[in-house]
Amino acid sequence: MSTMEPKQRLEGLSEKIFLDRYAWKDADSNNAKVGDVVLVLTKDDPKFPTKEVGEIVERTGRIVTVKTRSGELVKSDVEKLTLNIEKTPEEMWDRLATAMASVEKTPQLQQEWTGKFRSILDDWKLVPGGRIAAGAGASEELTLFNCYVVPSPKDSRGGIMQTLSEMTEIMARGGGVGINLSSLRPRRAIVRGVNGSSSGSVSWGGLFSYTTGLIEQGGSRRGALMLMINDWHPDVVDFITVKQTMGQVTNANLSVCVSNSFMKAVKEDLDWELVFPDTTDPDYDEIWDGDLDKWKADGRAVIPYRTVKARDVWKTIIESAWKSAEPGVVFMEYYNQMSNSWYFNPIICTNPCGEQGLPGWGVCNLSAVNLSKFYDEKNHDVDWSDLARTTRYSVRFLDNVIDKTPYHFPENEANQKKERRVGLGTMGLAELMIKLNIRYGSPESLEFLDKLYGFMAREAYLASAEIAGEKGSFQAFDTEKYLLSGFMKNITETYPEVGEAIREHGMRNVTVITQAPTGSTGTMVGTSTGIEPYFAFKYYRQSRLGYDEQFVPIAQQWLEANPGQELPEYFVTSMDLSAKDHIRAQAAIQRWVDSSISKTANCPADFTVEETAELYEMAFDLGCKGVTIYRDGSRDVQVLDTKKKE
Ligand code: UDP
Repeated sequence: MSTMEPKQRLEGLSEKIFLDRYAWKDADSNNAKVGDVVLVLTKDDPKFPTKEVGEIVERTGRIVTVKTRSGELVKSDVEKLTLNIEKTPEEMWDRLATAMASVEKTPQLQQEWTGKFRSILDDWKLVPGGRIAAGAGASEELTLFNCYVVPSPKDSRGGIMQTLSEMTEIMARGGGVGINLSSLRPRRAIVRGVNGSSSGSVSWGGLFSYTTGLIEQGGSRRGALMLMINDWHPDVVDFITVKQTMGQVTNANLSVCVSNSFMKAVKEDLDWELVFPDTTDPDYDEIWDGDLDKWKADGRAVIPYRTVKARDVWKTIIESAWKSAEPGVVFMEYYNQMSNSWYFNPIICTNPCGEQGLPGWGVCNLSAVNLSKFYDEKNHDVDWSDLARTTRYSVRFLDNVIDKTPYHFPENEANQKKERRVGLGTMGLAELMIKLNIRYGSPESLEFLDKLYGFMAREAYLASAEIAGEKGSFQAFDTEKYLLSGFMKNITETYPEVGEAIREHGMRNVTVITQAPTGSTGTMVGTSTGIEPYFAFKYYRQSRLGYDEQFVPIAQQWLEANPGQELPEYFVTSMDLSAKDHIRAQAAIQRWVDSSISKTANCPADFTVEETAELYEMAFDLGCKGVTIYRDGSRDVQVLDTKKKE
C-alpha cells in the first residue's frame, strides 16, 4: 500500500471530476458544518432536481449557506444536503474494495479479497467504471452497470411506451441504454384499428432521444442513448440521414447494424431488398421482436418494400459519416459469429459508446486496467507479472459487481445471472507505449498490441475459469457450444491452455473483455483514455484570462528532462496517424476482445468520401466489429482544440 500523503495523490488527477462525480457517499447531513464540501440542491424541481458542488460558509440552526463552484450563494436545509465524506482516492479505494469483497461467502474470504482488491485499486492500477466508482458501497439506488440494452419495442403504442418507461427508469439510475428500432413498422405502413399509417420507426427513435434529453437536464448522473436499425429495414435511409433534419434526434448516438450479406452485396454491386414482416400475420403482435431470421425460419411471410442498390445505401452511410461522424456502423452478423453467447442470446444492439454488444435485457459492467502503471523501468519492459495479477483479480472484482449491484428490473437480474457478462478493458495504452518508446500505429506497435492484449485475454479467461471452478459457471454455460464461438476458436488456437481450463472448470462469465472509452475515468486519473492515442500533447484550455497553454504530464516531463528539444517521433497524436493506422490498431486489439471496442479513427479535413468507404471496408476485412470516424472540423463545435484561438 502507498506511503504517500493523500494530498499528493490528488496531483495529476482531475480533482473536479473526482469530486463532482465519484466521491459521494451518503452521510448524516445533520452534522454538516462550516467548511464541509457538499452537494446542494440548486433547482428543487421534484422531477428533475439539480445539484452542485459547494462549500458550507455559514450555518444557523438547520439552515446552511453554501457557496457553489460557480460562486452562487444557496441556502438550504441541512437535510437536503449530500455530505462529502470522501476527499481522497484512498477513501474511495477502501470503500470499493470492501463493497466488492462483501459478496464473498465467508468472513475469511471477505477479508482476503478486501486486501487483494485494495492492492489493485491502489495507485489507480484498476480504475473501476464510472458507475461502480460512484455507486458501490455508497448508494442502494444507483446501478453499477454502465451498459444496458432493452428488448426492441413491441410494435404497438403500448409496446413503445413500455420501452420508453424501461429506458427512463434505467437512465434515471445512471445506466446507458441501447435500443434497436428494427421491430417497429416502417413509415407509412398501415396501422389497423386506427385506420391510419405509422409515423415510422425513426420518429419513435426521436421520442426516445427527446426523453433522454429531459433526463439529462435533470442533472442526475447521465445515461446516454444508442439507437440502431438493421440493414434490411425499409426506414434505414431515413435513419441514416435523420440528424441532417434539424432537431429530430439530438440526444442519441446512431449506428446501422450491417450483415455479412450486405457487405457482400456492396462488394459485388448487387441489389438489396428492404423488407418487413407481414403485420397481418395472426401471431404478429405476440411473437415479432425484431429478429427477422427467426421470423423467416418459422416460415412466416415477409413483405418486400423496395429493392435498392446495396451500394446506394452504403454510400448514404459513408457520406453521412464523412459529413457529421454519424451514423456509426456495427458489423452485427459478424459480431454474432464471434459472440460467446451465440447459442442462447443473440446480440441485438450495443450500449451508447458502441463497445458493448448485448442481447435484449442484457447488461454489463466495466472497469479498466490502467496500463500506464505497468511500465517496468528497470527492464524497460511491461511489468508482466503485476499485469497478470491485476488482470486476474480484476475479473473477480467485476464478477462480484453482478451480485452487489441493485436490480430495478427482474428481467435484467435473470438475464445477467444467466450469462454473468463482464467487460474488463484498458486505459493508458498510449502513455505506456510512449514509456516503452513504441510509436502507436507503427508495424512494431501492432506486434506489441497483439502480444499485450493476447496476454491479458489469456489471463482474464484463466481467471474466469478458475472462479467457475470455485463458484460455478454462468447458468447458460455449455462447454461444447461455448468453445465453438468465433472468438473461442481463435483464443484456444493460440492459447490451448484456455480451452483446457474451460473444459476442466467451466467458465464464470460469458464474456470478459470490453474496451470502453473511459472518457471520464481516464481523464480523472490523468492518463490517455481507452486504447486511444493522445489527441494532442499541447493544448489550450479556456480560462478567465484567455487561453492557457498546457502539456499532458508525460510530454511535460520529457520536455523538462530534455530542454530545448522537440518531442521524439514516438510521441504521436491521433491526428499524426493515418486513418488506416487507427483501424489497424483497432483490429489488432479486437482479435483479443470478446465484446467490442470504442475507438475513433481520426481523419484529416481533406479526407475524401471514397477514402472513407475504403476505410470502412478495410475495417470489415480486418475483423473489426464496428467503425466510427471523425473527420477534423466536421462538427460545428470541437471540445478540444489544438489550435490557439485569437
Ligand atoms: N455512459 C453513459 N453516460 C455517460 C458516459 C458513459 O451512459 O455520460 C455509458 C455508456 O454506455 C458508455 C459507457 O458508459 O458506452 C462507458 O463509457 P466510459 O468508459 O466513457 O465511462 P466512464 O466509466 O469513464 O464513466
